[in-house]
Amino acid sequence: MILFDKVSKKYGEKEAIKQVDFEVKEGEFLVLIGPSGCGKTTMLKMMNRLIPLTTGTIYINGKRISDYNINELRWNIGYVLQQIALFPHLTIEENIAIVPELKKWKRSRINERIKELMALAGLDYATYKDRLPEELSGGQQQRIGVIRALAADPDILLMDEPFSALDPISRVKLQDELITIQKQIKKTVVFVTHDIQEALKLADRICLLKEGEVVQVGTPEEIVNHPKNDFVAEFVKNQVFNLKTIIKPVDGREVLAQVQSNDSLERILNVLSEYETVEVIEDDEVIGMLERKHAYQEIAKELESVGG
Ligand code: ADP
Ligand code: MG
Repeated sequence: MILFDKVSKKYGEKEAIKQVDFEVKEGEFLVLIGPSGCGKTTMLKMMNRLIPLTTGTIYINGKRISDYNINELRWNIGYVLQQIALFPHLTIEENIAIVPELKKWKRSRINERIKELMALAGLDYATYKDRLPEELSGGQQQRIGVIRALAADPDILLMDEPFSALDPISRVKLQDELITIQKQIKKTVVFVTHDIQEALKLADRICLLKEGEVVQVGTPEEIVNHPKNDFVAEFVKNQVFNLKTIIKPVDGREVLAQVQSNDSLERILNVLSEYETVEVIEDDEVIGMLERKHAYQEIAKELESVGG
């Protein structure tokens, strides 16, 4: 579907991408991950020709991207950015309609599509269609960013740290929604993040980059259980959230819910959304408890410090 053949990218003297061979299969959710500055954004921008590559070739569906008409290429690739990039003076409906209008879809088809996508993203059409972006929360705006990228039904969706500016609760919600949406639409998705939790949760396969080179490509299970070298092992270990740093001692009060100390952050947040206090279990022993408000604050801090 998307194939990189010995692709390099230089910014002046700086070699940001070095001889990368890389493949994204049709219908797969591939997560590109790595430390800040490793070349994730550069990889994405080369795919839709926002920046030229220096050497090598990128193919989409077997055709060199340089052989595509630029509009044909861009319209077939949805692009979602970290910072919310809705047009501030256009309504929600107008924002979503931009690419379908460029493609000269009929008005009735555009309206149907907008309704369908807003339903998919859980936003009531009548309530939100005429609002301006600033009248929506950050999480709602980013939802619109995602469905706008899907508006003209592209085959490929590129997402560059789309949820990293959101608070942890909204982020988990949007991740869940994206999983639901992807089950229905089955696009080829390349999703950039520096957050290993997010990668493990979303990816069919993960591609880990370091200083412009691919270090390992594999399923979440392979990356966690069979890291190819110390860099991968450290990268995973350092970022997997450590619950033990935020537990409080058991104080005798009755607690109705439990989590395991190695549960995913997603599961922990889900349980905390229902229960104010939660016991933490390790090796069948209660090792402490979580209090919702305290845990939220600590998790938010932790997630921020991972940022980059
Ligand atoms: P990431 O998205 O993984 O943080 P980028 O792809 O943005 O990384 O950048 C990769 C490297 O290329 C970094 O060292 C960055 O400083 C450099 N770089 C990115 N864009 C430019 C540019 N326009 N001019 C010069 N250097 C750049
Ligand atoms: Mg980037």
